[in-house]
Amino acid sequence: MVKSFRIILGDQLNPNHSWFKVINSEITYVFIECKGEGSYAPHHIQKVVGIFYSMRQFANTLKKQGHNVIYHKILESKEIELIDILDSICQKKGVQNLYFQHPDELRMLNNLKLLRTRGYHVSFSSTEHFISTPEDFHETFAGKKTYLMESFYRKLRKKTGILMQGNQPKGGKWNFDNLNRNKIPKDHLLQKPYLPSTDVTEVYQEIIKANLPTIGSIGDSKTFFWPTNTNQALAIFDYWLKHQFKFFGDYQDAMTVNDWSLYHSRISFALNTKMLDPYTICRRAESYFEENEHIPINAAEGFIRQILGWREYMRGIYWERMPKFSKENFFEHSKKLPDWFWNGETKMKCMEHSIKQSLKYAYAHHIQRLMVIGNFSLLAGVHPDQLDFWFLGIYIDAFQWVEITNTRGMSQYADGGWIATKPYVSSANYINKMGDYCQNCSYNYKTKTDSDSCPFNALYWDFFDRHRKKLFNNFRLGMVYRTYEKMKDAQKEELRERAQYIMQNLEAL
Ligand SMILES: Cc1cc2nc3c(=O)[nH]c(=O)nc-3n(C[C@H](O)[C@H](O)[C@H](O)COP(=O)(O)OP(=O)(O)OC[C@H]3O[C@@H](n4cnc5c(N)ncnc54)[C@H](O)[C@@H]3O)c2cc1C
Ligand code: SF4
Repeated sequence: MVKSFRIILGDQLNPNHSWFKVINSEITYVFIECKGEGSYAPHHIQKVVGIFYSMRQFANTLKKQGHNVIYHKILESKEIELIDILDSICQKKGVQNLYFQHPDELRMLNNLKLLRTRGYHVSFSSTEHFISTPEDFHETFAGKKTYLMESFYRKLRKKTGILMQGNQPKGGKWNFDNLNRNKIPKDHLLQKPYLPSTDVTEVYQEIIKANLPTIGSIGDSKTFFWPTNTNQALAIFDYWLKHQFKFFGDYQDAMTVNDWSLYHSRISFALNTKMLDPYTICRRAESYFEENEHIPINAAEGFIRQILGWREYMRGIYWERMPKFSKENFFEHSKKLPDWFWNGETKMKCMEHSIKQSLKYAYAHHIQRLMVIGNFSLLAGVHPDQLDFWFLGIYIDAFQWVEITNTRGMSQYADGGWIATKPYVSSANYINKMGDYCQNCSYNYKTKTDSDSCPFNALYWDFFDRHRKKLFNNFRLGMVYRTYEKMKDAQKEELRERAQYIMQNLEAL
């Protein structure tokens, strides 16, 4: 006799969760594919396919282990919202006790709590996934005016002992960020990543039939290359450790027209759906570094910092600052995203390449997201809501807790500086320094005010001019304002005019 349901959400595919250790005939695991979750933003087709396919595999594994499982497929009912479908299943089966792993998104948490108003007993337990808790974050920053990632990261290094020698950081320094900034050399032969191949055609066709609004393309659905279970995800990671890890540190910020993921690990989807465990991944990277002399410390520390540092930190911010965070717009930006964000048809090579590969692979690496797409949008004055909507949809790894904190906070400075100590903006100088986009572009990266000058250049100076009142006293921007002040008035006026022209003609860039 089934007495309670344990509901597994699409980003809760953790096979090592303590729930699954004991088989209990009074418990049934429920999986629900629904239109509501697939369409609150238009998601990339690869993301929807990846999640549904992985959920189906996970459910089958549980069944094989002897657990009771109910699986609701996307075409099985006309109901749209997860809680309505769950309500129907509960009524059919006469179940009132509902157990959830704590969702990572506030929107989902609030939705699930609504089930209480329908008479259900609803409980939440830990996903057993993250290394820190929202309380750890809260305690670290109580009474502080900004949240410094480095403080939280160091605290977690000490707490876990990862990359530590007693009380001291391995390698003698906490952070090797200054060694993560090389361009890919011309004669460098890029090491290719391992790509699994899964036939997801059946799920893909059901999603098309269900008319879910999606973006991007899937390529050949018989050879889907994102991981769909823990074994595949570990195979990707282990291959990366062996063949690519050593270059991660050096080329972490590099960009090139010749590739789409360089030495990045592409494990974010597997981590965010919890197929991979972040603690295990950090420990595996640490052991590999210790056992293999050719792995430099800037690769090991640089990689571990992304997971133990940035990822945990962003989750802390999410629960500390939501829901207010989702409304913040420090610069009061109001522009609409240009239409070419949806097809990549722009003459700016850096934007074209980053957007087109995002549509094709549901992926862009961190620097493309931050210093190309985010940078341009901030300089051009795009409304953060517009950008959030786009970022939440397009990437395979986009889940609100980690998308919104990166987009609004780190990339758009919409929170006024809680996350980033200054806005992440640059002219063409940085983009040219880190890659070969500018060498392949219709615009001239060296000039600022000609009709073919790189749009980033005039926008960059105009951004600081426009937002002088809000930014002038920022201690990290003294140099920028001093350089601007040294320009002649006529030059400033030309920059202003060129920037105005660009802002009024974003669609034509
Ligand atoms: C505007 C913007 C939006 C972003 N949106 C998302 C998002 O929706 N989902 C997402 O997972 N990441 C997001 N990021 C962070 C980062 O770009 C991706 O995690 C990374 O590109 C994923 O690729 P990877 O697995 O190859 O990463 P790698 O470079 O190999 O890094 C390893 C892992 O570190 C973690 N990581 C790295 N940087 C960050 C970060 N800033 N915040 C949190 N975790 C990090 C990821 O889990 C990643 O898988 C965003 C960054 C920016 C600037
Ligand atoms: S010149 Fe400007 S627009 Fe072109 S690739 Fe370089 S930074 Fe991008």
